[in-house]
Amino acid sequence: MSFSPDSRLVAEVRAAASHDERRDGRTPDILLLHYTGMASTDEACRRLCDPESGVSCHYVVLEDGRVLQLVPEERRAWHAGVSSWEGETDVNSRSIGVEIANPGHDFGYPDFPTAQVVAVTELCRDICARWGVQPERVLAHSDVAPRRKQDPGEKFPWAILAAAGVGHWTAPTALRDGDESLREGDEGAPVEDLQTLLSLYGYGVEIDGVYDAATAAVVRAFQRHFRPARVDGVADFSTADTLRNLLRALPAR
Ligand SMILES: [Zn+2]
Repeated sequence: MSFSPDSRLVAEVRAAASHDERRDGRTPDILLLHYTGMASTDEACRRLCDPESGVSCHYVVLEDGRVLQLVPEERRAWHAGVSSWEGETDVNSRSIGVEIANPGHDFGYPDFPTAQVVAVTELCRDICARWGVQPERVLAHSDVAPRRKQDPGEKFPWAILAAAGVGHWTAPTALRDGDESLREGDEGAPVEDLQTLLSLYGYGVEIDGVYDAATAAVVRAFQRHFRPARVDGVADFSTADTLRNLLRALPAR
């Protein structure tokens, strides 16, 4: 079954098999970015269309910048998996999923080519404009599934997208060694404060004052997206300050 592309930027439609109806009349207000995470892009595209795989996405952006559409935007594609953002756990019903061709951390994690970054930026602008997706809801898969996912990863140029009006971004606070930091194993009010700020931003984290593995995973996800200079799951001053700046920069809601 083929269909008409939703975006003028689509070079080719390749209909995927795995999708269903968005639940409870939800419409997309999250744009979720991934990398394909497989050694071969062709293989990744085949898997995203294969009825047996049980996964799909709306768009794939190839290394050379060509855009494929696999699922109509009005349908619910299967890309987020077990995930959470601002308390929403059916992220698939709320999102449009874009897979960016890159073999990922398991296969050398190359830089994203310029032509691809330009195409992703244009596609995101187009999707956000047509659906009214707010900048702070352009997210990484790792943001909504921090314990399971690292994509699209710390090499993804969020700052370049933000300069073109895509996504929410503040310049990360510089790393300063020797500052006090919180880390896995710590407990108490400062940990609770950190968890509260992460949760306010949208991350699915329990506010219990215990810096456990789950909290460290959320901090790592935050760093991958917003403070990529060091992704270690330690809430140093730079990480916490970048988080506070982002929260201050959020529109009232
Ligand atoms: Zn993903």
